[in-house]
Parts: sequence; structure tokens; C-alpha cells
Amino acid sequence: MSEPTYLHATDGAARGRLRLLQLYPRDMNIYGDWGNALVLARRAQWAGYDVDLLSYDPGDEFPDDVDLLVGGGGQDSGQERIKEDLVERGPQLRAWASDGMPMLVICGLYQLFGHRFITGTGAEIPGISILDAETVAGSGRLIGNITLESKDFGRVVGYENHSGLTTLAAGVAPFGRVRSGDGNNGKDGTEGGRADHVIGTYLHGSLLPKNPAVADWLLARAVERAGGTWEGGSLDERADAWAEKARKVAASRPR
Ligand code: GLN
Repeated sequence: MSEPTYLHATDGAARGRLRLLQLYPRDMNIYGDWGNALVLARRAQWAGYDVDLLSYDPGDEFPDDVDLLVGGGGQDSGQERIKEDLVERGPQLRAWASDGMPMLVICGLYQLFGHRFITGTGAEIPGISILDAETVAGSGRLIGNITLESKDFGRVVGYENHSGLTTLAAGVAPFGRVRSGDGNNGKDGTEGGRADHVIGTYLHGSLLPKNPAVADWLLARAVERAGGTWEGGSLDERADAWAEKARKVAASRPR
């Protein structure tokens, strides 16, 4: 684990401390995915929490426990570089997921939180099976702004860019239903996958600045798992007004 960054609650004495881990930022962090960690940290600070921002790359010491985990996308080559390490970390990550830890994994790591990704050359990159899903490279790329409708988060706006076509096993809840864009495979109308408090999705852009409802859901699950109650009431409304503007622009842009 590289040196953590310690951030303090923005207002007075902290209600608690949250440990936020970004997985593989060196190889899996494109199209602004790092912004997801920053949004979680900032909203936690506004809500009165101190935050330890941790990152983990292959070769680092793995933290004993954290409250929340995020991971981003990468090229196939990035997925190749982290694949062995991810399989080694698999049992720990599965144990955390079964224990209710909230996790947000985007694109390349979403694929590897499923069972496997078969690349364009037919090579298999093994996944860690937290999500009952698998991905096979397609012949083209699915690129552009995308909007979803989701039961828990309402309308979700993002940007996708992937060749992998993901299929969820029967009964697995998607992150949302595609309203415009391609989503998991361009065919079945699903986007992303969920398992308990784990969200996998293709939405970059980054996702959380434009979708604060998703950020607060993750934070609420993290606080509850630590025995507390999330109260986001003191959040900065100006930030949400900017988020709303960004959502509108992204949703109105043709692909
Ligand atoms: N290599 C994967 C794909 O294209 C993941 C891409 C990404 O993370 N943006 O399907």
C-alpha cells in the first residue's frame, strides 16, 4: 500500500473515520475513474468524516480492512498486468464483498469481478467471480454517452468505451436498464451488475461526480457496515447543482 492521504472532516469534530481503497490506480484508472475516489472522499468530509485515502498496486502491502473500495477501467494490457495479483487477492475481496463492503468497479475491473474476460485474441483473463457474469471481446467498440434508469438511483448518466460484451447470469440484477447507449452488450438492455453492495458498471466519465445519488448510497453502506448511520444532510448543495448541469449536458449529447 502506498502512503495514505489523510483528509479531515470539513466541519469541526469528526463523526468517524472512513478508509477508502482505490484498487490498482497505476494500471486501472482511465477516463477520469480516479474522480470517483475523490467524490467519495469529499462527500464523506462534507458529511463529517475523516477519510484515509489508500491505494493498492501489485507489490504493495494489502490493507487489513477498509470501509469502501473503488476500482477503474484499463486497456486489455492493464488487465493483463494485474491479473495474477487480482486472483491472489480474490479470496480477501470475496470475503469483504460477502461481509457487505460497498465496492464500485468500472469497466476493466467490472469485467474481472465477473468470472472471466476472453480477449480479442481468445486469451482468457480470469476474474474473481464476485459478480455472476462473463465478458467476451466483441468486434467493435461501444462508445459514447449513456443513460440508464435504475430502481435505487433513478436516472444515471455516464460515458462508456469498451469492446467487451458482458452477459449477466440469470437472476443477477443489473446496475440499470439502458435508456440510450449500449450497456453490457448492446442487446439485452442491461447495464452493469450488482451483488449485495457491489456495483460493477461500464460508466466512466467519471461516474460519481455526475451521479451523487450513487456516491451517497456507497457511503451510506460503508457507514452502516461500520455500525453508524449516514446523514448526508450537511452536503454542499452547490456541488449537486453542478452535478445536475453536467448530467443534463451529458444526457443531451448525441453519441
Ligand atoms: N479492455 C476492456 C474492453 O475494452 C476494458 C476497457 C476499459 O476498461 N475501458 O472491453
